[in-house]
Amino acid sequence: MKAKGAVLHQVGGPWVVEDIEVSEPGDNEVLVQVMASGLCHSDDHFVTGDIPATLPVVGGHEGAGIVVKVGSKVTRVAPGDHVATLFIPACGVCKYCARGMSYICNNGAGMEHGLAMDGTARFHLSDGRGIGGSTRLGSFANYLVCHETQTVKVPKDIPFDLACLVSCGVATGYGAAVYGGPVRPGDVVLVMGVGGVGMNAVQGARLAGADHILVAEPVDWKREASVGFGATDVFASVDEARGRIAELTNGQGVDVSICAVGRVDGDLLGLAFEVTGKAGTCVLLAVGSHEKSISISPQDLTNFSKRIQGVLYGLCNPVVDIPMLLRMYQEKRIKLDELVTTRYGLDDINEAYADMHAGKNIRGVVIHNH
Ligand SMILES: [Zn+2]
Ligand SMILES: [Zn+2]
Repeated sequence: MKAKGAVLHQVGGPWVVEDIEVSEPGDNEVLVQVMASGLCHSDDHFVTGDIPATLPVVGGHEGAGIVVKVGSKVTRVAPGDHVATLFIPACGVCKYCARGMSYICNNGAGMEHGLAMDGTARFHLSDGRGIGGSTRLGSFANYLVCHETQTVKVPKDIPFDLACLVSCGVATGYGAAVYGGPVRPGDVVLVMGVGGVGMNAVQGARLAGADHILVAEPVDWKREASVGFGATDVFASVDEARGRIAELTNGQGVDVSICAVGRVDGDLLGLAFEVTGKAGTCVLLAVGSHEKSISISPQDLTNFSKRIQGVLYGLCNPVVDIPMLLRMYQEKRIKLDELVTTRYGLDDINEAYADMHAGKNIRGVVIHNH
């Protein structure tokens, strides 16, 4: 069927909004009418080349929409269901899913190519070329076909522009605190960077019972907005936070630091590690360069029994956690409305990413036309 999608043809951009063709769903696949897609920083990493991807690609992985059609063997969802898309499948039966670690499901392998698991394309350009979608999704198109294990049903009364955020940014940030730390009652927590992910690390830390949630964020208004999500002390940089960290922890450092900046490097991670205290955990959820150097002291790692915890998808099991987070929203325990700064049409996608870089958005969301 015909669709409209934002396609990245080369590193450096721009996103090109063009007519594309979407394939029929295969036996285990689902055709989704995409209603909204979050403008996650990860898709911008394709533009900068920090995350290598096979190009051209239809961007977007933080999607929500309505199931239009399902393949003959699909059991998880049915036409008419509202769904959020999962950027990592949750097959349920691989070694990692079976151990409760769907965030590293084996079926995520090869997703950087964007093609379906059988290696064929679900999107076609007007010249007939088959192309992939971001993480085998492509929610910057108003229709997409994906494997049923990349969908989870969501309640029909949740707006699509909020459901989409929970599928990536909210789960990742919340989980980084609740599962990655894990943050415990009474903890002192530092969150570095409060965009569409870090803001949810603040919410997660609050829900996990942290006493003090310090935020280091250079953009004034985001820093102030984080107070509404649960931050207790806000600073423009980690250096400015050092005095308060020392005061709260008898000079020892925070229990959990969460590095949620847009792009991390070894020095920044080293700084997060340095301000983490004895037996503390430095959680990294951000993406950065491929350089293989982190500035940490091996002695500190050993002598202070510290941990560095990498976190994909917030260590969430999205089939469980996404519906739970949405219930928590309905019960007013987490904030979602306040995460959406600006809603854009698909044609404005380049402007939307420019706004992200300019620090204008906690999260921008594309609302698709139908
Ligand atoms: Zn994302
Ligand atoms: Zn699996």
